[in-house]
Amino acid sequence: MAHILVVEDEKDVSDVVSRYLKLDSHEVKTASSIQEMYDELEKGCVDIIILDLMLPDGDAMDELSSIRFMCPKTFVIVLTALREDRDKILGLEMGADDYVTKPFNPRELVARVRAIIRRTSMFAERELVHKDMKLLVNERTLLIGDEPVQLSSKEFEILLLLFENPKKVFTRAEILDTVWRDEDRSDRIVDVYMSLLRKKLGKERLVTIHGVGYKLG
Ligand code: CA
Repeated sequence: MAHILVVEDEKDVSDVVSRYLKLDSHEVKTASSIQEMYDELEKGCVDIIILDLMLPDGDAMDELSSIRFMCPKTFVIVLTALREDRDKILGLEMGADDYVTKPFNPRELVARVRAIIRRTSMFAERELVHKDMKLLVNERTLLIGDEPVQLSSKEFEILLLLFENPKKVFTRAEILDTVWRDEDRSDRIVDVYMSLLRKKLGKERLVTIHGVGYKLG
């Protein structure tokens, strides 16, 4: 069971999403604007936010970093009607963990929520150490020295894979298969994430082996 906040101004969509999530035994709250979302989050962070981007009081894309700052452990699944890859990648870069393109089947959304819960509960308390880096598995946080580096869930999963196999060079296809599993994604997304991670970690800690793939430095 997860605490989920559905932020969506279209009542029909909000109702159907809430109903499906409740049927899957989640605790569901709703908000129909950015302001209402913050009112709810001020009462307490939830496990997952289902976030529509186009809201009456603004574009929720602009709020992702504030949500991340306010509730660093909350997963954000973005609902987007924007079909362009560019926008999706930008959304991910701004801190969403996953996205679903409208129109969508509510069952698909329930499946994404289940996948998040399954992955996070699999991560029991563990620490993986590589040189000056320590991956705190249950907190989804990376420490470089003593400095915490905030990670999105996909960034975390990529690093988990690399930390569990620190000597191995992973190809894009291997990373895509492990981290995105059955989601339909182009392997270009791996490069996008790797460049985000390299900005956070520094080039020397995440090495590109040209023509092959990636490994920890
Ligand atoms: Ca909307």
